[in-house]
Amino acid sequence: MVWEEFKEQAAAYRLLKGAVVSGRVAHAYLFLGPDARGKEAATRWLAQALNCVGGRGEPCAACRSCHLIAAGTHPDVRGLAPRGRHIRLDEVRELVRTAAASPLTGQTKVYIINEADKLLPEAANHLLKLLEEPPPATVFVLTAARDYALLPTIVSRCQVVPFRALAPEVLVRRFIAEGHDPDLAHRAAFLSGGDADEAAQWLSAEGQRAVTEFLEFAPAIFSGKGAVLKIAASYQNDPGRFLTLLSAWYRDLILWRSGRREGLVFRGEEELLERVATLCSPGALVRSCRAIAQALRLLSGRSTVNVRLVLEALLAELAQAEV
Ligand SMILES: [Zn+2]
Repeated sequence: MVWEEFKEQAAAYRLLKGAVVSGRVAHAYLFLGPDARGKEAATRWLAQALNCVGGRGEPCAACRSCHLIAAGTHPDVRGLAPRGRHIRLDEVRELVRTAAASPLTGQTKVYIINEADKLLPEAANHLLKLLEEPPPATVFVLTAARDYALLPTIVSRCQVVPFRALAPEVLVRRFIAEGHDPDLAHRAAFLSGGDADEAAQWLSAEGQRAVTEFLEFAPAIFSGKGAVLKIAASYQNDPGRFLTLLSAWYRDLILWRSGRREGLVFRGEEELLERVATLCSPGALVRSCRAIAQALRLLSGRSTVNVRLVLEALLAELAQAEV
């Protein structure tokens, strides 16, 4: 059931459920944060809860309204997502053309603008006018992963509903229920730190390929300057992903070296961990982790840094970790 993915976002669920039950529903919501699927499930839940003729505070999932919304064919529930990189003015105009009219069949019209941070300025201004003078019996739902690209005036017109990173264990359960390999589900959830959208990328074919490539050269980090320069060059365009893999890898090496076999990110790679961990002293591994954290800080800062140089320096330092 898709609602489960919404209910995993406990704070958001409490907030919206409270609004529906008390009848104090805002004119506009901004679902803000990671977890695209959780936000999508929440949007559907809210649209159904506001139009359901059977349930009280919780959609019944059985009435005609609930069915039409689940099928995406309810005439009073309309959505918009970017086609390409932006949402244009004519698309917003088309979406809200019927905003002033009464609901056709349901009790509340619901207009959904997915990835509202991709609204072009004139589209955002058009939407703002509607939010400033909201039509009756209408709820706007905007979704965005981050708020820095949204007009502050739009944010101030919306009630913000926070969506957060989930406990990795919750994501592992979600992915295994979908039929993913348990080791893979575990790795994706922990590499993402519970960010559901990022975890989905690690689960994708491309994300899995990145992990495979990383594991192929991971032992070569100790093998000298030539390998180091090649590795640094190949990752200079995607240092974030590389450093995520690198820090998880060194964390696993430390765990392995200290005899712990639980909580490994790279489950299923025990043979490789054993081979590499015996090459390094525990102290050197801890120093390596510090160096990776330092590189992460450097690369996430605002100042322009030479990514390739940072990676080269880091890898050269990691190469010293050999016993
Ligand atoms: Zn219903």
